[in-house]
Amino acid sequence: MTEDKFDGELVDVGTLCYEGHDNLYLNITNRCSASCVFCIRDVSDGVYGYDLRLKKEPSLEDMLEKLSTLDLEKYREVVFTGFGEATLRFDVLLKITHWLKERGVRTRLDTNGHAQLLYPERDVVAELKEAGLDEVSVSLNAESEEKYNEICRPAFEGSYDAMLDFTRNAIEAGIQTRMTVVGFNDIDIKKCEEIARKIGADFHVR
Ligand code: SF4
Repeated sequence: MTEDKFDGELVDVGTLCYEGHDNLYLNITNRCSASCVFCIRDVSDGVYGYDLRLKKEPSLEDMLEKLSTLDLEKYREVVFTGFGEATLRFDVLLKITHWLKERGVRTRLDTNGHAQLLYPERDVVAELKEAGLDEVSVSLNAESEEKYNEICRPAFEGSYDAMLDFTRNAIEAGIQTRMTVVGFNDIDIKKCEEIARKIGADFHVR
């Protein structure tokens, strides 16, 4: 837990980072541009015993202050994940990535791949690469746009294609890239794997 000055009083911000699988996970937002039917936010307050509901989004300074107190060398990688879509805070995400890169820490972004729709005037993959991001894990989640829209209920039209383009661009930029699906009954895992392999991404069932 971290405390932060807010409206003149010290308030509890929430869990900014947590450990698991020898990784450090960063929780910089609870917002998302999708509303997946399987989203853990709807059924739980957190994971691994951590309460991931933020009372307030942490500032860049909150995050760097917290990270500065940790022995980062002991983690395999630092992962932007948590209870929301980290690219909604794109500039904070880039600055933290850059800060970690300068310290030789490996980073991964778990994302729904909608970032280019959020920032149409920017080249989001180029900026992630420039910041030093090592790996991206993109939620593919379905073998067709129709099924994707049913399951993920994205805020923007064209999210499925944007997610596929984001993945292609990440591979082209030389960022290690994988696509994932949640092992759901009516998802065609085999077709999803074919899509991922055709694009050139690794594939993982969550
Ligand atoms: S993309 Fe992730 S955080 Fe967003 S609704 Fe889906 S599962 Fe939840």
